[in-house]
Amino acid sequence: GYLAEEVVGNPMAPERLFADADSRRRWQQDICAGNGAPSEMELVIRCKKGLRKTILWANGACACTIPGWAVWGSGIDITERKETEKALGDARLAAENASQAKSDFLANVSHEVRTPLTIITGALELLGETALSSYQQQFVNMSQSSAETLLRLIEDLLDFSRIEARRMVFEESPFDLTDVLETTLAGFAMQAAKKKLPIHFEVAPAVPRRILGDSLRLRQVVTNLLSNAVKFTERGRIDLRIDLKTDEKIEPGCAMLFFSVRDTGIGIPPEKQSLLFQSFSQVDGSSTRRYGGTGLGLAISQRILQQMGGAIWVESEPGRGSEFFFTLPARPAIQPEEAPAPAKIRKGDIVSIRDPRRPARILVAEDEAMIRHLVSTVLKRKGWEVITATDGAEAMGHLENDSFDLVLMDIQMPQLDGMQVTRILRQKEAQLGRRTPVIALTAHAGEDDRRRFLRAGMDGRITKPIQVGEFLQTIERTLGDGGGTT
Ligand code: ADP
Repeated sequence: GYLAEEVVGNPMAPERLFADADSRRRWQQDICAGNGAPSEMELVIRCKKGLRKTILWANGACACTIPGWAVWGSGIDITERKETEKALGDARLAAENASQAKSDFLANVSHEVRTPLTIITGALELLGETALSSYQQQFVNMSQSSAETLLRLIEDLLDFSRIEARRMVFEESPFDLTDVLETTLAGFAMQAAKKKLPIHFEVAPAVPRRILGDSLRLRQVVTNLLSNAVKFTERGRIDLRIDLKTDEKIEPGCAMLFFSVRDTGIGIPPEKQSLLFQSFSQVDGSSTRRYGGTGLGLAISQRILQQMGGAIWVESEPGRGSEFFFTLPARPAIQPEEAPAPAKIRKGDIVSIRDPRRPARILVAEDEAMIRHLVSTVLKRKGWEVITATDGAEAMGHLENDSFDLVLMDIQMPQLDGMQVTRILRQKEAQLGRRTPVIALTAHAGEDDRRRFLRAGMDGRITKPIQVGEFLQTIERTLGDGGGTT
């Protein structure tokens, strides 16, 4: 906006043009004092009418007939480009914040829903053990199976929100591939037998048996594929095969495992195949009613595999069946498995051996009244003595004045949470040289959560909703050997 005569020959003019101190400083240092050395920079200037503009300025030395030096320079107005860049950056940030808020919301809601669900499934399980007419029993069965479906949905939602928020932690520890897959397959034996579907399992000889990786996540993916295969197949067979994929470039020392799950079921129309891995997608909208499911399983599997460096895809023909393939890079575990984690009971600790004639004393610290009641009922029916605490501080009080064979500890409690209580207990016990087994009783079902609890000094975890049979087994095991659970 300036006229040439307002600037030319006016040594102060350039300084007055700048809109901020940084641009002024760089102008003076790089251009005025730079002896004509070429440079390029962004400068913020103020127009004659006061508008701020961003200029991309470039300059260099030029030949000069008079003594001294001279520079040439040219500026391009990049204000609009900068504004677009900023708007894009702001939009991305807003989208990231919204996505984070959504993930947090999902995680919180899922977590909150688990508590009432624990009460429903626990109460149903207790109810199912009483004398019921077959008429009553069918309603208990219906409610139980619906509660289980709801629980699966919530677990899927939690997993999905964890993956979206990139909060899923992957473990790298050695495991036996065949063992993991065989136990996974065993979980489908009943279901497949009911439909008269044989499941064949084949491992190519080149596949390493022991590998390093996250066996839980691998099991989750295979479970999902097998569960779909059994669900969508009425006749024929199911095949699970593992081989090595040698045509893909991977890190040296790594093997690319190649899995396939094939069924002879209903198949998937070609136009629907690309949708399968999106969240909440099902080939046939009515399939939720007919077959159950959330449409999240494959989306979760794909994201788990991607984060572990693998991929998943499908080949299918309607009416003939489907074959899902996935790859997973894995490092063979050459070292034999390391010695188990340091013994929880150290040398010199006094471990009270319970007199088997005396009923076990169990402290249940749980702030939710109905869960406290449920857990106490289940424990008392076994003849154990139960003392309850409604929050962390009360639990600490009991632990200071009394001794227990086992503590079942909720994590989220008012005042002191379960991990804080355990840490304080462990400090006190270290001075006394004894150790009371503490098991977390929690809806936090993730592997990273479990590790968090172990680090706080807990010996294991029981996840809510509680499955009474498993719950009692864990407690019996812990009382029996004074050791830990999984
Ligand atoms: P869901 O919990 O609904 O099974 P998935 O993401 O695992 O969710 O699967 C999404 C949809 O893909 C299913 O609802 C079904 O329509 C289709 N599908 C998955 N696996 C198979 C299969 N083996 N045969 C036929 N259809 C399948």
